[in-house]
Amino acid sequence: MSEQPVNPVIAIQVGAISFVDEGIEPVLDQFQTRAGVNNLFLATPTWTRGTGGRAVPGHPIPDHGGQAYDHDFVGGNYATTHPEYYRNTSLPPVPKNPEHPDFDLLGEVIAEAKKRGIQSYAWMEESSYIQAVRDIPGMPATMEVDVWGRPSSRPCFNNPDYRNWHLGIVEDYVQSYDLDGLAWCSERPGPLNTTLQGPMSATGITCFCRHCSAIARDRGLDPERARQGYQELLDWNQKLQAGERPSDGAFTAFWRVLLRYPEVLGWQNLWTESQRQLYRDIYGVAKAANRQVQVGWHVFHDISFSPFYRADQDYAELGKLSDFIKVVAYNNCAGPRFHHWVHSISRFLFADLGPEKSYGVLQGLLNYDEADLDQLPQVGFTADYVKRETERALASVGPDTKIFPGIDIDIPVGSAPAAVADRKKRNESVTGLALNIDVSTGDDLTQCTRASVKDAVLAAFNGGAHGVVLSRKYSEMFLENLSGAGDALDELGLR
Ligand SMILES: [Zn+2]
Repeated sequence: MSEQPVNPVIAIQVGAISFVDEGIEPVLDQFQTRAGVNNLFLATPTWTRGTGGRAVPGHPIPDHGGQAYDHDFVGGNYATTHPEYYRNTSLPPVPKNPEHPDFDLLGEVIAEAKKRGIQSYAWMEESSYIQAVRDIPGMPATMEVDVWGRPSSRPCFNNPDYRNWHLGIVEDYVQSYDLDGLAWCSERPGPLNTTLQGPMSATGITCFCRHCSAIARDRGLDPERARQGYQELLDWNQKLQAGERPSDGAFTAFWRVLLRYPEVLGWQNLWTESQRQLYRDIYGVAKAANRQVQVGWHVFHDISFSPFYRADQDYAELGKLSDFIKVVAYNNCAGPRFHHWVHSISRFLFADLGPEKSYGVLQGLLNYDEADLDQLPQVGFTADYVKRETERALASVGPDTKIFPGIDIDIPVGSAPAAVADRKKRNESVTGLALNIDVSTGDDLTQCTRASVKDAVLAAFNGGAHGVVLSRKYSEMFLENLSGAGDALDELGLR
């Protein structure tokens, strides 16, 4: 076992709705007594059900808070918008959420938390794939451009208006509120990842906008060659979708495209580097506004499933621009999610192998020792996975970057018709993210328990974590299971 963590961060992700439904003091009481929480990740802005709103429709409503689904959830800024921070963008200041616009999440909760010695971070989700973001006037003009030259469905990291809009939110929050930190979340993979791992259309292969193309030319990367290479990969992907197998096999045909068009790899790296440059800018702007503010990132679940995304999201590089990294290590929902992921990539890059062999290869590449593939939806991943992912992150970052694994507490599993309908109603484009949507069904799917939460928290600290982030949102956690985090702290003598 690693050394006992000193003053570990015990954070919990919580949205405005929980304080509106239950009151600030009662919620903080639950956090402290059940889980020893000393840090709030206050979800704003957000437009996704992963961090905002009540429980996802069709999934269990826990034993606290509002006892009905919030079908009218839209999202937005849950703090007060200060327009003076948005002068460097043609986009309007971040819109207030329409659900409870008179409640200022940061303005009302931070002070109450401080009285108890609890720190507060803004938990900021880019929500790049959500229709409500595209509904912001002017936002459609910032969209990534696809391989056929058409504006697509996610904003481009290199679009100056989009970048400056986010930097405006960061500056607004850090200057307007007594925040201890901010955690920024961008859940999206780049064009090569999306093309090799699942069914893809032209619209998901990005970004060929003039801003990205100009940066590419500066780096000696030919946008037209990259576009041609991705067109070839799109053809490869669509043939596999149609059930055609290249005569040399799917993998060899894929590799041949890389040989002929190395610009394909360059373009993927440019995309990743563009995301990372926005991280750098957020880091710098936040520090310029208040050098005490801690800045870090949520790295989404793909890093647990895809060795390709794992290579992109290099912790050693991320560590240079991070006070902390929240490593998603959601062990329960990882089972059904990875089950789907393996079945998907084994129709594309690993089509020559099939699901069982692909799973063996991936477990080896990812350093896992989990249950049989067909059992994953019923048993989830082990706590040992949490430990391995914690250790892997710690081995890569420098001594100044803290690692906070994200702990799974009642993240929904299984495909619920009401959830599918909700996504459709909200017109979410899930480009590249569809693979992380759990499609498993049945009454026997793996569920979090008080013991599983305790084991995951223990595993994080056994792996050397500096803290944990109880995830994804309090409004979907059962109180008993939240207490599992407190059980782990008690066992470790940490409270
Ligand atoms: Zn672009």
